[in-house]
Amino acid sequence: MSKRILIIEDEIEIAELERDYLEIDGFEVEIETDGSKGLKKGLEDNFDLIILDLMLPSVNGFEICKSLREETDIPIIMVSARRDDIDKIRGLGLGADDYMTKPFSPSELVARVKAHLNRYERLIGSGKKENDIIEVRGIRIDRTARRVFIDGQEKSFTTKEFDLLTFLAENPNRVFTKEELFTEIWDMESIGDIATVTVHIKKIREKIEKDTSNPQYIETIWGVGYRFKN
Ligand code: CA
Repeated sequence: MSKRILIIEDEIEIAELERDYLEIDGFEVEIETDGSKGLKKGLEDNFDLIILDLMLPSVNGFEICKSLREETDIPIIMVSARRDDIDKIRGLGLGADDYMTKPFSPSELVARVKAHLNRYERLIGSGKKENDIIEVRGIRIDRTARRVFIDGQEKSFTTKEFDLLTFLAENPNRVFTKEELFTEIWDMESIGDIATVTVHIKKIREKIEKDTSNPQYIETIWGVGYRFKN
């Protein structure tokens, strides 16, 4: 299957040039010219890599990179017309994987895209080694790649949502109190309280349950806590 790349770039000529070069190399490419639409697409759609311009209408590249990083660890290549912006991005430690200053050669971009995809593949261990998988009635949790699929469709989870879901699924048919879950998933120094657990359970249910008012996976045991049904 060809790799999918999202280009978030408001200069359409540049975006199209990048797209043309990437398509020649067999990539599937989508373009978003608006910041907030690009962020939405990057979060909801299942891309393998994102090329992100810094100066964009509505939401800028800094914010987009930050928001994407809370949800996903796919490679992000940031581009900017200004060298000092690149230094600034680096300094902020937003978690971008690479930076390029415009104008750059499209073949250089393609080379970097390939390098980051290869590196990422190795990182998530999608090569020869078997991944550590938990499967329960249509939910597939890949612990190695930290990815979750519901009926074959990937859903994105934040780190804590993923940890909480995985912990419950690893220990099915056991009731855990909110306090136990908080201690297990959030370290003791964490700011927050057991209400955090409730909020995360709600978010997880929205992603895994067909009907959140009648949960089939994570049951609420009133007055006690939660139980994952196997
Ligand atoms: Ca721009």
